[in-house]
Amino acid sequence: MSTRVAGKVAVVIGGASGIGWATAQLLASEGATVVIGDIDVDGGRSRAVELGRGAEAVCVDVVDEESVRTVFEETRARLGRVDIAVNCAGLNLPGFITELDADTWRRTVDICLTGGFFVIKHAARAMEAGGAIVSITSLNARQAAAGFAGYCSAKAGLAMLTEVAALELGERGIRVNAVSPGLVETPLVEGLTSVPVIQADFTENTPLGRNGSPRDVAEAVLYLASDASSWTTGEVLDVNGGAHLRRYPDV
Ligand code: NAD
Repeated sequence: MSTRVAGKVAVVIGGASGIGWATAQLLASEGATVVIGDIDVDGGRSRAVELGRGAEAVCVDVVDEESVRTVFEETRARLGRVDIAVNCAGLNLPGFITELDADTWRRTVDICLTGGFFVIKHAARAMEAGGAIVSITSLNARQAAAGFAGYCSAKAGLAMLTEVAALELGERGIRVNAVSPGLVETPLVEGLTSVPVIQADFTENTPLGRNGSPRDVAEAVLYLASDASSWTTGEVLDVNGGAHLRRYPDV
């Protein structure tokens, strides 16, 4: 067994599914004690049982500041420390701007941006001996997608929030970074990957020619959460098979 985060306590918000679940598995296999925080508390509990190694699950709604504060405070009280916080909670509600209602906009921004703010704020408060915070932004933070104004805007905000937090928290030994994935095969994007013409377009515009797996992203999170990246902060790391690179027509 390798031990890249041995002895550390890691809270993975959104850890019951997709990228968060792959991250929880990888952190646990590298020696961390993992607390899964998710709005899907039943899913989180069964994942924690599957993980073993002292893993726990708690109900967290990232839009509710009190619930985010509680998970970090109680983890510190129960396990003695919080070293790593990963925020994987997210959703992408579609709608063209002229049709998009305010509630849909607010829900997306609340979960993807304000939730990220609550996680960084309360993780940092609980990290008395320094630590590492990793958020999941998106390729859509810098590559616009028609029909996803709220999602693109919120993820762009989360990328900037990562940089501001890195500036403010560095002197306390807290590193704040993000991973920016392209298309990753999880329940979140089944509506895209199940449509052949959409999938073909993504594949054609991804130099490495395939979708990502949750594990691809989890490996980058592990790097940013571990001491291997001890001099890296304020970084938003593209993990997308090269999809952020603009492809010109062949000549
Ligand atoms: P997923 O749907 O598989 O997992 C998301 C998890 O977040 C679920 O367990 C869900 O219950 C939880 N969650 C949702 N709302 C929550 C809330 N209010 N409070 C707490 N937990 C909540 O999705 P995923 O693809 O693994 O997405 C993880 C992150 O990666 C998201 O932030 C998403 O925007 C981002 N992302 C995903 C892709 C992709 O292609 N899958 C690409 C770029 C970025």
